[in-house]
Amino acid sequence: AKHVYTFGAGKAEGKADMKNLLGGKGANLAEMNLIGVPVPPGFTITTEVCTKYNEEGQEKTFEAIKQEVEAAVSMVETLTETKFGDKDNPCLLSVRSGARASMPGMMDTVLNLGMNDDAVEAISKKSGNPRFAWDSYRRFVQMYGDVVMEMKPASKEEHDPFEEIIDKLKEEKGIQLDTEFSTEDLQELVKRFKAAVKKVTGKDFPADPWEQLWGSVAAVFNSWNNPRANLYRRLEHIPDEWGTAVNVQAMVFGNMGETSGTGVAFTRDAATGEDVFNGEYLINAQGEDVVAGIRTPQVITLSGSKKWAELQGVSEEERASKYPSLEEAMPEIYKQLEETQQKLEDHYKDMQDLEFTIQEGKLWLLQTRNGKRTGAAMVKIAVDLLEQGVIDEKTALKRIDANKLDELLHPVFDAAALKSATEIAKGLPASPGAATGQIVFFADEANKFDASILVRVETSPEDLEGMHVAKGILTARGGMTSHAAVVARGMGKCCVSGAGSVKINYKTRIMTIDGKEFAEGDWISLNGSTGKVYEGKVNTKTPDMSGDFGKIMDLASKFSRMSVRTNADTPNDAKTARNFGAQGIGLCRTEHMFFDGERIRAMREMILASTVEGREKALAKLLPYQREDFEGIFEAMAGYGVTVRLLDPPLHEFVPHQQATQKELAEKMGITIDEVKSKIADLEEFNPMLGHRGCRLGITYPEITAMQSRAIIEAALNLKAKGIETQPEIMVPLVGTVAEFKNQANVIRSTAEKVFAERNDRVEYLVGTMIEIPRAALTADLIAAEADFFSFGTNDLTQMTLGYSRDDAGKFLPIYLNNGILKQDPFQVLDQEGVGQLVQMGTEKGRKTKPGLKVGICGEHGGEPSSVMFCDSVGMDYVSCSPYRVPIARVAAAQANI
Ligand code: PEP
Ligand code: MG
Repeated sequence: AKHVYTFGAGKAEGKADMKNLLGGKGANLAEMNLIGVPVPPGFTITTEVCTKYNEEGQEKTFEAIKQEVEAAVSMVETLTETKFGDKDNPCLLSVRSGARASMPGMMDTVLNLGMNDDAVEAISKKSGNPRFAWDSYRRFVQMYGDVVMEMKPASKEEHDPFEEIIDKLKEEKGIQLDTEFSTEDLQELVKRFKAAVKKVTGKDFPADPWEQLWGSVAAVFNSWNNPRANLYRRLEHIPDEWGTAVNVQAMVFGNMGETSGTGVAFTRDAATGEDVFNGEYLINAQGEDVVAGIRTPQVITLSGSKKWAELQGVSEEERASKYPSLEEAMPEIYKQLEETQQKLEDHYKDMQDLEFTIQEGKLWLLQTRNGKRTGAAMVKIAVDLLEQGVIDEKTALKRIDANKLDELLHPVFDAAALKSATEIAKGLPASPGAATGQIVFFADEANKFDASILVRVETSPEDLEGMHVAKGILTARGGMTSHAAVVARGMGKCCVSGAGSVKINYKTRIMTIDGKEFAEGDWISLNGSTGKVYEGKVNTKTPDMSGDFGKIMDLASKFSRMSVRTNADTPNDAKTARNFGAQGIGLCRTEHMFFDGERIRAMREMILASTVEGREKALAKLLPYQREDFEGIFEAMAGYGVTVRLLDPPLHEFVPHQQATQKELAEKMGITIDEVKSKIADLEEFNPMLGHRGCRLGITYPEITAMQSRAIIEAALNLKAKGIETQPEIMVPLVGTVAEFKNQANVIRSTAEKVFAERNDRVEYLVGTMIEIPRAALTADLIAAEADFFSFGTNDLTQMTLGYSRDDAGKFLPIYLNNGILKQDPFQVLDQEGVGQLVQMGTEKGRKTKPGLKVGICGEHGGEPSSVMFCDSVGMDYVSCSPYRVPIARVAAAQANI
């Protein structure tokens, strides 16, 4: 097989649709060459090589690709008229990772590879710029030392060892900025860096360029399995098997002086979705400088500069003289960049995230990819591209990552609360949203509080997990394209970056703003849409749904086959879900209605009664409450089906455990407290989830089923009398045999007939069952002969199929996930391979007996996109999920069908 694909000078062996093999970056580098965008020549080592490397080891793998790599390097030499490892005319290379899906900052990069004591002299002579040559050298030693030789800080409170050396030399020289280092200083840095490497690793810093190249390739492959990359993959559901490609390119230098620079740009606004070209750049800088947040980046467009100056707190005059936009500083380059960004967006038909470098007045593109964006931007960009005629309706829908819609439903600050809040600092609005929480200073401590705000000087990819856990992120350094900003936007997490007035002392765990101190645990609030930071807690409220959101929802309705219902136990939840477009209730868990005040007392009397009469007396008290609840819910969902499930949980969940409450209950029932205690003890079970619950309760105590059926039918009749249409569907839980179902269906149907006779009126209703025990799925043909509908209870079905207790799985699931024994939590994402077979079989067998059988799902999976798509594939009529997941399920249902 071919292992290496070259590109350069308008030719390429790969192209955009080869992402699986070349990774996203490699495929797009090839494609840019083909469409005439200037890209430094280079080559991509395929993802298959990474897989081979992981399976067969380094030696065998490198042996297999050696010749191809050497040939590719020689092509780069020809195109750049240089020679790799040559004393007088050396070729310098960059080495970057690039997986199929972009994983910003998760893996390793090495720049200026090929540098050594000879090369630095040659570059120095050739460029006539010794300072630049030595700056490149010290960067190389720093990056290679970090990435390949693994020079890391000694502890989390310590700085990076190289940064320590830099800070020390700055102190000795009495300077503040990297740019103030003289050539001699940079030479001193290289010397000290190498000494530090030797001291820490015991190894000499390698001077041989080929050793450097293979070392870097190995480091990139190894970085596929570093902890932060593993975590990122888990969060983003990227398979471990994919592997990363390695991109090796001729270096172009943004650090050659005032006519050079480097930057990052977006073809549209990644936070809001607005169709404005934007980005940041630095003059005389290289590689990671813009995203690393060490210097304050400047804006690219003049139109963006006013807002920038406001956010940075500098006057327009100061901005124009000290921090000019690229449009002002290098108008000709700006024009080329502007044209290129348009060309790339038109070509890829999506918002692009670009990296570029300017070397002595020449523009080079180093990367283009579909840009990460917030949920709001995702929706706006899809709708705008549709309305601009760039993409069609189906494509617009496919562009929606259903899970990300969740962000649009998140709270925003209450305007009134915001007015009275005290603003303490202002940074950049890096990722929108509102967050209130307690300060933590270290990512691995983000779970210290229920709601924490991670406060850092800057974030690094190591902080990923903590960023995920925190409610919001505040950084003192970094621009709109800093690591914190990009990652936070991808996660939909509120982030304020580059708040310069924030001073952080990691050792004392104190943040100081204008002389005022804030300690770990203090409350602050962030507004990621304005960049403002507030003292204390600020109240939040639910957001208004924007017009674009509605347009996407309309498209979802237009293209889906299945309908979406909701799981709701109260009229309020039913209304919320209806506003989100729910068409009916797929699961109303009646037990949730038993907990309030009077009800729980009657419920407990019922449970503890020793006779049928005693139970009936208590149930009679519950009847009016249930009826009233059902009336409210039926009315909120008028015109749609409402599935009401009969009592399900083990009774032990309802009894009092406190002495005082037990005593009160005993008095009320006229029995002794010891009798109450012994009855409660009798209800205790070793394995309650497999115990006396579900239809087993209704079969033991048919009077419970009778009362609930009566409440449902009476509620429907009452609404009918008011002219409100209802479609009650009574559902029996935890059925495993058809006989169980028949038993309960008899009680339900005979009770209904009794009520109809009393009222001299009727309503239509259905009697169906949950399919949540494996045996029910296996015998679905028999059950379907008796049942009007099926609803898959995939929570219990997962529990019982995998044999993982729903209540205890938390102890081992994280370990299973970490070890790759499970790819996903089966209680969140339907296990299609296993549990899915039962769902498919149950549906098929049921419909064999009763062709039009209505089938749905009401487990948690009904709101998870990949599971919803599976439900569509087995032909379900609907999915049902919690109210806030209804929009997500609607989009997934549509995507399943296009
Ligand atoms: C289920 O088991 O999937 C279900 C919806 O019921 P519950 O979660 O109430 O057991
Ligand atoms: Mg269940």
